[in-house]
Amino acid sequence: MIDVLENSEQILCAIELPSANPYWKVLADIIQTRSRVSSVLVLLPNERELSIVESELLDSGERPVSVRSTDGKSERYAKFLFGRVQRKGIILGTRSSVLMPLPADSTIILVDDCDESHYERRSPTWNSRELVGLRESEHSVLYISSTMSLEVSTRVNEGLLPLFRFPQSSKIRVTSSVEMHQKPYFKTISESLRKGSVLISMSGTGYITSFSCQKCRNIALCSCGGKLFLPKGKSPECATCSTKYIEWKCTWCGESKPRTLSSGVLRRADEYGKAFPGVSIITSTAETPALKLPDGKHLVLSTPGVEPRGNYEAIIFLDLEHRLLRTTLRASEEIRLHIMRSLTMLKPGGAVHYELSPSDPFLQSILRGNLLNATLREVEERDAVHLPPHYASIILTSEDLLSTERVLSDLSYMEIVGPFIRNKRNSILLKVHNSKRDEVVKLLTQVNRVRSLRKEPLLSYQIDPYSLN
Ligand SMILES: [Zn+2]
Ligand SMILES: [Zn+2]
Repeated sequence: MIDVLENSEQILCAIELPSANPYWKVLADIIQTRSRVSSVLVLLPNERELSIVESELLDSGERPVSVRSTDGKSERYAKFLFGRVQRKGIILGTRSSVLMPLPADSTIILVDDCDESHYERRSPTWNSRELVGLRESEHSVLYISSTMSLEVSTRVNEGLLPLFRFPQSSKIRVTSSVEMHQKPYFKTISESLRKGSVLISMSGTGYITSFSCQKCRNIALCSCGGKLFLPKGKSPECATCSTKYIEWKCTWCGESKPRTLSSGVLRRADEYGKAFPGVSIITSTAETPALKLPDGKHLVLSTPGVEPRGNYEAIIFLDLEHRLLRTTLRASEEIRLHIMRSLTMLKPGGAVHYELSPSDPFLQSILRGNLLNATLREVEERDAVHLPPHYASIILTSEDLLSTERVLSDLSYMEIVGPFIRNKRNSILLKVHNSKRDEVVKLLTQVNRVRSLRKEPLLSYQIDPYSLN
């Protein structure tokens, strides 16, 4: 791979980062190597990740320029550096830097493109990956992550993007189980704490979860592809299009008994304080995140995404069934990213425990180590219900949906789901094959132009938003 990175010609590829090797160190190596050949713009998911990579590069003697949303000066300096100074520079930024002007033949490194932060929330919601894709003709582009997004996997599978993987160098001890009362991983925790720190990744609270079939455990889906959930005391309802299922039956096996998980199964930090007395406990949550693992031996309890960066003897992933039932479109992609990114922090020879049935297909795909197959299977499931990456999904909100629907229903290739209420407004979901996407976007722009001339309220639309809920 070094050969590829040192190649001064334009390159385009995906790189999957290895386990048991801190991802920010591998990333910093790749950035450094590439910066000997060309200027490098690195797009990280958020400023937390930016700080982690920045400090690693500073430790290696580099002088990267970081563009943070809070400070306008560094962006001006970055532009100055790239525009005027005849030297190769490293710029670290987030989604807001994706269109930064670059000298010819620069390299753009997009890190963790499936992270939610790479998705713009405001209409029309272009994400970093799409905008970087438009720059591939002029610059070298590397898509780097511990796990590929469905979109990048699709391109790899279609032969449009070469994929580089690292050989798996060290053995990891893996266990998994779903017993609620016995806690087989407690022994792993106490043994590992003698040698170093242990990370326990536990679910955050406060999100809506779907349910599965009591018999076959498949997640309950609506015909639109959205996930069903059970509002308190009511019948199942689609989280995307709000369709109600008065007499729900599993579409796979016909069973009518839903399997629900109450949030009461979520473990609490104080439980561990009692179970491991005298151990230093660190908690990290979205509200009070801890950036780095301090020296010493600690039991770290963290919600996904904000795990303190460091080296762990053991990692325990709890609440996985609950997390996989989240109703958002990209729930499993997100969990896979959090798991694989955390696994880079495991010490060689360390132990991992997954709280999930050993036969669970999601767990199986991770244990087999072939993430490409796992993502491609998800792409197939999405194809069946006409959802991304092969189909575009557009959520359209308007005060006057009827006239818009009339315009759109003339298009034979258009699938319209709804109307339903989204954020208290009337909405519909449009599904079109990617080949028709530009056409539809152009049409929506034209409709808005006409409405604007007539001084009518504009349509607002989100193209491929992170979630359809
Ligand atoms: Zn079933
Ligand atoms: Zn639905």
